[in-house]
Amino acid sequence: MTSSPETRLIEVQRLGVVYDDGADAAALHALQGVTFDVSAQEFVALIGPSGCGKSTLLRVLAGLVPPTQGRIIFHRDSPKIGMVFQQANLMPWRNVLDNIALPLVLEGMPLLSARQRALEMIHLVGLDGFGNALPRDLSGGMAQRVAIARALIHDPDLLLLDEPFAALDALTREKMWNELLHIWQKKRKTVLMVTHSISEALFLADRVLVLTRRPGSIKRVLRVPLPRPRDESMRYTPEFGELAHMLKQAIE
Ligand code: ADP
Ligand code: MG
Repeated sequence: MTSSPETRLIEVQRLGVVYDDGADAAALHALQGVTFDVSAQEFVALIGPSGCGKSTLLRVLAGLVPPTQGRIIFHRDSPKIGMVFQQANLMPWRNVLDNIALPLVLEGMPLLSARQRALEMIHLVGLDGFGNALPRDLSGGMAQRVAIARALIHDPDLLLLDEPFAALDALTREKMWNELLHIWQKKRKTVLMVTHSISEALFLADRVLVLTRRPGSIKRVLRVPLPRPRDESMRYTPEFGELAHMLKQAIE
């Protein structure tokens, strides 16, 4: 998928972020001259060294951190954004259903309608029957599915995922890849996902953006030519191996 002007959702132009905590602390340049765009319904992975500003970039896109330089253009009026972090950050005293319903309740939707929507999301992420469970009773993978359902419930234009599967064991992580692809296929959200994993980036994304060391900027853009729908067997093909090798070299 190319970012033709008609389908473009986001343009990031020469974005720079400086954290200046004032006092004696030296200003920290987290991002510098970051330019790229994202098409509607595209799945983009971001990969780069620790501390290069990946989370900062997502936070700017979510409107949580102001850019110091450059700008971000959304080609949507008041775009809705859903975000998922490495930890699920669920409310421990609320059950699964009410954790997922929370964003709608905060928007003022009546509880019953919000719960009805939450039930649909529970089904979408494969957690049927767990609506009454409390976060402490969930595995890591289940908790992340709840976090994804909560991020999707207000039907966001953009889904920002910040290493959402990094804390999971390898097998659960691979299962979550399939879940996420399934959801993405069904909902066709625009996704921007930070990851440390080369195979995760390749298996999920249409394009992979490789960031430099801090201050982060875009170093390489790799289009992933694997057809969709993708299935597990693709990860064991010579083509996938070659792509992984190319991406590894781009990162180094
Ligand atoms: P990444 O997600 O790629 O690991 P981050 O975006 O979290 O990187 O951080 C980029 C740099 O900015 C790091 O050096 C980090 O310590 C610094 N940083 C992140 N948030 C803040 C903040 N609120 N104030 C000051 N420095 C920050
Ligand atoms: Mg980070």
